[in-house]
Amino acid sequence: MTGRFDVDGLLERFFDGNTAAAARLISIVENDSENSQKVLDAVFPKVRGAYKIGFTGPPGAGKSTLVSRLARIFRQEGRAIGVIAVDPTSPFSGGALLGDRIRMQKLTEDPEIFVRSLATRGSLGGISRCTNDVADLLDAFGKDLILVETVGVGQSELEIAEKAHTVVVVLVPESGDSIQAMKAGLMEIGDIFVMNKSDHPDAELAARDLEDTLRLKDIPEDGWRPPVLLTSALEGAGLETLEEKIKAHYDYLERNGILDEKRRRVLRSRIWEALLDRVEERLAMDKEIAELIDRRMEDVLEKKIAPYSIVREIEKMIDIVHDWSKEDER
Ligand code: GDP
Repeated sequence: MTGRFDVDGLLERFFDGNTAAAARLISIVENDSENSQKVLDAVFPKVRGAYKIGFTGPPGAGKSTLVSRLARIFRQEGRAIGVIAVDPTSPFSGGALLGDRIRMQKLTEDPEIFVRSLATRGSLGGISRCTNDVADLLDAFGKDLILVETVGVGQSELEIAEKAHTVVVVLVPESGDSIQAMKAGLMEIGDIFVMNKSDHPDAELAARDLEDTLRLKDIPEDGWRPPVLLTSALEGAGLETLEEKIKAHYDYLERNGILDEKRRRVLRSRIWEALLDRVEERLAMDKEIAELIDRRMEDVLEKKIAPYSIVREIEKMIDIVHDWSKEDER
């Protein structure tokens, strides 16, 4: 059986709603195998624009617990749910977040909730691209809502979160959590802030602190002011309010035409990211460039030339290869 035949068969079953086929296609896309472009091109016409909700925050804040609970609430309302858990620490082996996966696995008992863990492998931009591609697959598979969970510790996690339509930042009432969040850029991207573990005695105070910090944000009169909510994912408290706020944020985006704008922006940045990834990959593989750098290194070490002059030299090389020089003539 050729790979091509395989993929066609899988796609057919995927469009028939076969979950196993969907899982296989996701693996193809995740592993960025030669067939992934074909898969993505084939499903693209069926991508309807599912609503994406990103959950981010420090490890241990309760994101997985919260996402599991919310998925079930949305599910009870008859929505088809996809969950993507981006796991930044542990390619395959499990590690710190293995517990998440086991807990998330419980969700899969409901056939309408499709859960997928993605491990961060490969290039930095790779995981962000992969998350969006997998979201497209889930979307084309008929999911209405896609919950994306990432640990907000690095740039690529922020990028993933930013591509969601609503970003929920999950924090806990531990000392300095808000300050950490600020440093990590979470304050900028949150549409809704959740102070989870409200069963802890410091929760209310921490939520008020967070509100004070957010009040400093410069938000226009008719703009969205991110609410701070108290939840206990463990006890199931405050989840209805969270659900309401997510819906309110959706309404706000829709009413003001921001949703369309956001969809365009995300699509554009996805194209750019994929392109830059590809260019980077190509350049890194180019033997001539590697040789030129090696050759010129001595000159740099002896201070005969400056490092950036090598870059300019390489740019000229690339110009010739791709005929980009024509751009200047236009
Ligand atoms: P994540 O790393 O952000 O996904 O956090 P988890 O969902 O894995 O939760 C980390 C730990 O906090 C687990 O032991 C949870 O049972 C616990 N936890 C989650 N939510 C709450 C909560 O609201 N209250 C308390 N006390 N514990 C919680």
